[in-house]
Amino acid sequence: MAGRLDGGTSDCGSGLLLTVTRAMRGVPLDEVLVVTTVERSVVEDLPAWARLAGHTIVAVAGSGARGPWEVAVRRGAPPASRAGTATAGSPDAAAPLGTRLWLYTNFDCNLACEYCCAGSSPSAPARRLDPAVATAAVQELAGLGGREVLFTGGEPFLHPELAAMVTSAARLMEVTVLTNAMVFGRGTRRAALERLPRDRVVLQISLDSPDPGLHDAVRGSGSFARARDGIALARSLGFRVRVAATLAADLPGRDRVVAGLQALLADDGLPPENLLVRPVAHEGAARAGVELHLEDLAPEPTLTVDGAWWHPACVTNPSMRVADTPLPLSDVLDTIAATVHVTQAAASRGRTVFRCT
Ligand code: SF4
Repeated sequence: MAGRLDGGTSDCGSGLLLTVTRAMRGVPLDEVLVVTTVERSVVEDLPAWARLAGHTIVAVAGSGARGPWEVAVRRGAPPASRAGTATAGSPDAAAPLGTRLWLYTNFDCNLACEYCCAGSSPSAPARRLDPAVATAAVQELAGLGGREVLFTGGEPFLHPELAAMVTSAARLMEVTVLTNAMVFGRGTRRAALERLPRDRVVLQISLDSPDPGLHDAVRGSGSFARARDGIALARSLGFRVRVAATLAADLPGRDRVVAGLQALLADDGLPPENLLVRPVAHEGAARAGVELHLEDLAPEPTLTVDGAWWHPACVTNPSMRVADTPLPLSDVLDTIAATVHVTQAAASRGRTVFRCT
């Protein structure tokens, strides 16, 4: 036996699929992983998962209606290569796996937005990404054919080495920096902004409403005016700017808010395609929002200081953790590809959500 995995109460629809996939990658070919579970559906689901993933169930032990049960899985052939694996169903133009990478630079933020999926705030631990890790990740991505890296947080401009990380990445690929545009007006952060290359860097700036009151209600008093100042400053310095609005799917008057933001952009001379509208996800600090599930959420590989994640909106969700270290990126992508392979195979057999039934 090569190892044991305590699946606890998780099932294949609530994170166990990714956890088992991760664990099997550490099991040598033909060796056995024993999965312990108190969730009855897992006993039925794991054989279907094993068939799709190329593994074999060699024993199921346990009795009674309440478990626990033990399922012994023998490691089979490696899963399909990630090459050519396409993402599907992403809300904003999913990229083929391995072409795009998200990097969380830090988790502290000057704001504490009520729906922040990262749970960021001024008092959140910074958990800064090591610039050497960022550079290594981008270099590895470039070697795999990657084309785009996105720096996010927290507020990335609070990371004192943001400019170095962005400049290094921009030598290899397109870069987007997500920011609330409120902290780079002066001092060392202004200097960092001015050091960034203009040709391969886009600043994606948050603005949730054309109405200052509505924006400030979710992001904090005075944040609308400072974001608008930040947009103007960035554009005056020659940056390409994209505006991103985070709006609850059921927000009253949502269409009017979007139209108002488009009009605001037009007044600034920005085309409507420079506006990105995304829903609130029920993750992090959000008390409501779109429920995200691995099975129907296109992977957007995301690295933080302490691991790798399925998607940038899920970095506080243990069931979306792909790896316990951000590098090597190839391991992260292979784990995601193996999971996608199984979920797509399940879907092609008529399962919209992988429950291995
Ligand atoms: S949503 Fe963005 S600006 Fe708001 S607290 Fe989170 S990281 Fe900061």
